[in-house]
Amino acid sequence: MPDGLPSNGRIAAAFDLLGDLLELEGAVRHRVLAYRRGAARVRAAGESVARMALEGRATSLPDIGPTLQAKVVELAETGTMAALDKARARVPEGLVAVARLEGIGPKRAMALHTHLGVRGTADLRAAVDTGRLADVPGMGRRTAEALAAQLAGLGPDGVSADQRVSLGVALPLAESLVRDLREEPGVLRAEVAGSLRRGRETVHDVDVVVAAEDPAAVFAALERSLLVERVLSGGEARRAVMTHRGVRVEVAVAPPARFGNLLQHATGSAAHNVRLREMAVRRGWSVSEHGITREDGALDVHADEDGVYAALGLRTPPPELREDRGELAQAAGDVPWPDLLRVEDLRGEVHVHTTWSDGTASVARMAEAAAARGYAYLGIADHSQNLAMAGGLSADRVRRQWEEIEAVNAAMEGRIRVLRCTEMDILADGRLDWDDDLLAGFDVVTASLHSALGRPGPEVTARLLEAVASPHVDIIGHPTGRMLERRGHAAVDIARVAEAAAATGTLLEINSQPRRLDLDSDMARIALEAGACLVVSSDAHNPDALELVRFGVIVARRAGARAADVANTGPWEALVCPGAPRRAAP
Ligand SMILES: [Zn+2]
Ligand SMILES: [Zn+2]
Repeated sequence: MPDGLPSNGRIAAAFDLLGDLLELEGAVRHRVLAYRRGAARVRAAGESVARMALEGRATSLPDIGPTLQAKVVELAETGTMAALDKARARVPEGLVAVARLEGIGPKRAMALHTHLGVRGTADLRAAVDTGRLADVPGMGRRTAEALAAQLAGLGPDGVSADQRVSLGVALPLAESLVRDLREEPGVLRAEVAGSLRRGRETVHDVDVVVAAEDPAAVFAALERSLLVERVLSGGEARRAVMTHRGVRVEVAVAPPARFGNLLQHATGSAAHNVRLREMAVRRGWSVSEHGITREDGALDVHADEDGVYAALGLRTPPPELREDRGELAQAAGDVPWPDLLRVEDLRGEVHVHTTWSDGTASVARMAEAAAARGYAYLGIADHSQNLAMAGGLSADRVRRQWEEIEAVNAAMEGRIRVLRCTEMDILADGRLDWDDDLLAGFDVVTASLHSALGRPGPEVTARLLEAVASPHVDIIGHPTGRMLERRGHAAVDIARVAEAAAATGTLLEINSQPRRLDLDSDMARIALEAGACLVVSSDAHNPDALELVRFGVIVARRAGARAADVANTGPWEALVCPGAPRRAAP
């Protein structure tokens, strides 16, 4: 395309916006539709519509008449569209996003503009927050509540703030869908693929691959699934659907004979697959989801992924390591893969909450649940006094809790050891929330940041370094304080913290809560490279949440962690910082 010509996407966006603004103004329906249909045609056109219009040929496209063609010419020649500029001057563009909110529509959006001066979602949010919505005719309290919920998920420009979803949300959803598909007659295999199979902490969408001869039957079953809200797009062997949870799922189907090729391809990563294709090209072969084409043109298909790698002279890399970090070179040699951490390797954990602070179960119930998982120990780590809003304990209540822990230990008759632990706040000024006296009474101490996380990086890092340096602190809990979908990492210099932790023997936590997953796998890898050791915790606030460690284990695997890199694969004493001034074991 010659320089400067507007792309089809840009033209289509201009038509769409013009249609939306006209609709807000109450223009007759057919004018609005004319722009929307035109936008769809332009977007789908195979060649440059700007060039076609300049040559007078754009009217050969359905739905593009002389009026729309003239507007494309105008946009191509002047870079602007007068009709659009005028409409923008009459109606604030931000109202388009407002009108798209559920329960609003163009009429109500204009009413909000006329009555409250709302010009976009940010104004609307302020109007909802201050209760001014009631001043607009037809806006009840329920509309306001529904809006508040929708607005919470939007960025300032009215588009969804973060389309990425936590592994802890996406994986159970994908597994449930896969289980349903496996029930279908004709389905031989169904597997999670894509970034989710590689254990990414957050994903844009979910990939599922299915082995079946008849894709149509698989898609019919998919569309019947209660998880699925609507179909987004489809092809002969592929279907994309939106789930009610707002997670996009793409299902691809291959005949069983080449399921391995599809699974390998759909697992990625893109960088891994590019490298794999480069290796194949050197032999004069090519690799795709359909199979491996040899130099003589023969197509080589595989029912299993191992077959695909073996055909290329490679051992199958663990999915979590397929990020083009040298894994294919290793796959070509005979250095064994690291024995990555498994859930079964964990012998206990020391970060769970009970009704003493903000948990929903007693010490005894948490202990029972942990014993049922086969754990040798469980550390009760309720919040410290500073975290009053989460029921932080006073020193007095800590001592009373210790009595209860001893009673539960007696009742458990050796089936599990319940430990006196704490999740102690690191205060805003870097001091610890408990004094040395009390600290010496705990078995294992986790120190966490819960406040002043938005401070400059050096300040937050200094607070963590101070906690690492304390002989009382054994573990740093959720080291960066991130909350997925709410706030990013605090600006922690994780390499410095990890170096210090490696020197003192302080452990760094991978917190398995789906909204945390903190450390993330990149940071956990940095920590391991610095020589630090990790601990994987559920941070459970109820017995079922002990399960969540499976997500933390996935993060650890992606970081390349083996059982030996994770302290709670050993006895609980391995979690105590060397030289910690502690009470004698009873
Ligand atoms: Zn915490
Ligand atoms: Zn916690």
